[in-house]
Amino acid sequence: MSTDPLPILQSTFGFPEFRGVQRQVVDRVLAAENTLAVMPTGAGKSLCYQLPAVALDGTCVVVSPLIALMHDQLRAASAIGIRAATLTSVDTDQMETIARFRRGELDLLYVAPERASGESFRNLLGQAPLALFAIDEAHCVSEWGHDFRPDYRLLRPLLDHFPHVPRLALTATADAVTRADILDQLGIPREGMIVAGFDRPNIRYMISPKDNTTRQIADLIAEQPGPGIVYAQTRAATEKLAEALGRTGRPTRAYHAGLDPQVRARNQADFVASEDMVIVATVAFGMGIDKPDVRFVAHAGMPKSIESYYQETGRAGRDGDPAIAHLFWGAEDFAKARLRISEVEPHRQAGERTRLTALSALVETAGCRRRILLKHFGDESPENCGNCDNCLSPPSAVDATEVARKFLSAVFRTGQSFGVGYIESILTGQSSERSLMNGHEALGVFGIASSSEEAALIKPVARALLLRDALRANDFGGLEFGPEAKAILKGEAEVALIVQPKRERRRRGGAGA
Ligand code: ADP
Ligand code: ZN
Repeated sequence: MSTDPLPILQSTFGFPEFRGVQRQVVDRVLAAENTLAVMPTGAGKSLCYQLPAVALDGTCVVVSPLIALMHDQLRAASAIGIRAATLTSVDTDQMETIARFRRGELDLLYVAPERASGESFRNLLGQAPLALFAIDEAHCVSEWGHDFRPDYRLLRPLLDHFPHVPRLALTATADAVTRADILDQLGIPREGMIVAGFDRPNIRYMISPKDNTTRQIADLIAEQPGPGIVYAQTRAATEKLAEALGRTGRPTRAYHAGLDPQVRARNQADFVASEDMVIVATVAFGMGIDKPDVRFVAHAGMPKSIESYYQETGRAGRDGDPAIAHLFWGAEDFAKARLRISEVEPHRQAGERTRLTALSALVETAGCRRRILLKHFGDESPENCGNCDNCLSPPSAVDATEVARKFLSAVFRTGQSFGVGYIESILTGQSSERSLMNGHEALGVFGIASSSEEAALIKPVARALLLRDALRANDFGGLEFGPEAKAILKGEAEVALIVQPKRERRRRGGAGA
């Protein structure tokens, strides 16, 4: 018996046709085959289980990691007449939901993994027909994934308890290793994996080193009309940046978990309704928000991983019109990320390191950004995409090996405890009370990079050395050698700096902090 999903797509969801791989996924699910759908953000994953939930008899159980996400989904599904409910600790109508489920009155039942894996939930599920298990954000099941949740591991016994109920795992972000692991963990066959193309051709990828981030983002805002999201790393940074950017004249709001819930909800609603607002947010913002006309996403600091970068930038331009993703990075971001990795459980470090390396390759490249990004997700792409900063204005490479050696020697001679600014003053031979007191003016490295060409390379060199782990920064900004330092000092490795051409920027009066 085959169900034709198209009439349901049109009548219930109001869409004329399926997009991308939706049809393939839905067909597998309707044929009761276990499936993993890897689809980028905005590709329309929810429909892949919502439509079968409507088409099939019985309830579709949706496992989802976040209560806020479940409630967003619930609202959207109810709005189009799907019979849905959530079963979470904050719901006051749990008894009613359970009764509705037992009477077979629910198309969709959303639960968190910790509840889903419990025995009482399993007993409950035995009391009414089931259509499907949908496991959203399925990368959470994998220790290789970027967001491992141990509770996801406990789902398998539940799934196996109902062997005839098909499983649909969904994720937006999973590299090859993670995908294979998801299949294993959830008992889905290899041929059950459907991967959508990851390219978002209308997004222009831009990456620049930080150099007064507020000013850089203000410039971006001045250039780029339409709604935008700026990601900052901490709550305090969010508020400070929102205030500074507010002075550009664009309506600006902050968004983070520490705000009063009402203020937060209002800021979000204002943003969704607005045609020119800039929202400065921590990364939690954007999950489950359906705003197709976001014209830019800026990162005022490094994302957690290349997956996060893809997911966060993916919130730009869902309507298919041109949009910009601009990342501003600092070498200290990488140093901090490395430190963080050294503190996670040992068996997870390799995976985390791979993801960080992928991110640094993306930042460092003189080639096409899109190509590197897509390669990470296993997509082929042309050599030159024509829509990233490097393709649009190719950077040139400068050999900075000599300056890098001088820099490393100065770090070594001064005892591996001073910061970039001090090392720079030593190399350029600027006398100061501090360098006199330290006796550093007598060192051979004092003033050995005093020509203006060399002096101009010192800061970029320091950044490059930190990025490649030839230098590490301690908590006080003091520099010490990292594992890559030796090869450079011994002349076994070269240091090329990528110099991006200065881009013309239209300045508007008053922009910036
Ligand atoms: P994801 O979870 O993959 O990020 P969503 O399920 O939130 O994506 O869907 C993104 C947007 O695309 C939503 O606004 C949704 O209504 C819309 N959408 C989904 N499927 C279709 C379709 N076949 N045609 C048009 N719009 C669609
Ligand atoms: Zn490119």
